[in-house]
Amino acid sequence: MALRSFVEVPPDSHFPLENLPFGVFQPKQGRPRVGVAIGDLVVDLSVLEELGHFHSPEFQDQRVFSEESLNSFLSLGRPAWRKTREILQHLLSADTPMLRDDARLRERVLHAQKDVVMRLPARIGNYTDFYSSYHHAHNVGTMLRGAENALMPNWKWLPVAYHGRASSVVMSGTDVRRPYGQTKSPDAVVPTFGPTKSLDYELEMAFLVGPSNSLGEPVPIDRAVDHIFGLVLMNDWSARDIQAWEYQPLGPFLAKNFCTSISPWVVTLEALEPFRKPLPPQDPEPLTYLRWENDFTFDIQLEAHLQTSAMNAPHVITRTNFQNLYWSIAQQLAHHTANGCNLEPGDLLASGTISGATEESRGCMLELTWRGANPLKLSNGETRKWLEDGDILNITGYCQGDGYRIGFGEVSGQLSGSDE
Ligand code: MN
Repeated sequence: MALRSFVEVPPDSHFPLENLPFGVFQPKQGRPRVGVAIGDLVVDLSVLEELGHFHSPEFQDQRVFSEESLNSFLSLGRPAWRKTREILQHLLSADTPMLRDDARLRERVLHAQKDVVMRLPARIGNYTDFYSSYHHAHNVGTMLRGAENALMPNWKWLPVAYHGRASSVVMSGTDVRRPYGQTKSPDAVVPTFGPTKSLDYELEMAFLVGPSNSLGEPVPIDRAVDHIFGLVLMNDWSARDIQAWEYQPLGPFLAKNFCTSISPWVVTLEALEPFRKPLPPQDPEPLTYLRWENDFTFDIQLEAHLQTSAMNAPHVITRTNFQNLYWSIAQQLAHHTANGCNLEPGDLLASGTISGATEESRGCMLELTWRGANPLKLSNGETRKWLEDGDILNITGYCQGDGYRIGFGEVSGQLSGSDE
């Protein structure tokens, strides 16, 4: 049974009253501030805060919503996140007259999403990318080492990851420039330097870290969710030819850090709660510090769409689900801090490419075309081994409820040539 707001929300909207995802927006006039999405609107939390609606012990006398990032709000932790959700669900309810019946106040508090510019939701200090989809790791390993040695011996024992680069994480809608780099084809004697010839997307999700843990103090797995605020969609743009030449022995570097796009709205764990599923049993059973009897995943349907400059409408190239991840977000966070590494509010921890068992659920071109061997056939007759200049890649996702959706909006980017 869907909740009702006085704001019009169609049943296929990603942003009903049950969702209320957080983001940072900039209105036509004024500085960026914190908002939540409902239907086609943004609610300006800085105005509601100024009016005293968040005077509550959970906020520890802090004003957090006029800031240009979510970081202060993230550091307050789940009691403040829950209280904010409760207050907003009340203020936006069809039965609450305060905002509903006050046109002047509505004008100050509610903006059309089309009239505002979305900013990065957080000052991201650190970004880590995991490698947590079994089918992605297995497919890539098969291409590199053959089916018998597809998974490295550590893969089922720990959530493998690399430290990425936070400075090049960008907001959805930012153009992606084809990067230059060093590559070497197998038959060449020496490498060459030039624009990548194998630009790829990676369909991923990522979570934002809330309160920090102190350096030297691991977060036990049954406390991990206290440090996880919510999730966004992510596209980890990748240059496969640069990656193939540079990655040994220390892992991804310039093939990955030229651009990583995220969606603007952070969907909270509270909003995702109805779509929580138990984490399937893992074999072998993980070591004790990664074991939690209540561990969970979410049923989130995910799609990637490609639109070339010759197409009028996007073409679906990936259909997958968040449940295709082998390692849970709690395991990722517990493992990341197991050595005492301190996470900080606004840190971004990403899933890795989310591929499933079927061909259509492969989450990147590398897998879809099997390293270019089987080009994708698009609906207008074009083919693609890799992304080409002018292509728009869009990732979207939502949870389907009874009469409503908890959606993530989209993360999109258009590829421009390296000389533009
Ligand atoms: Mn990745």
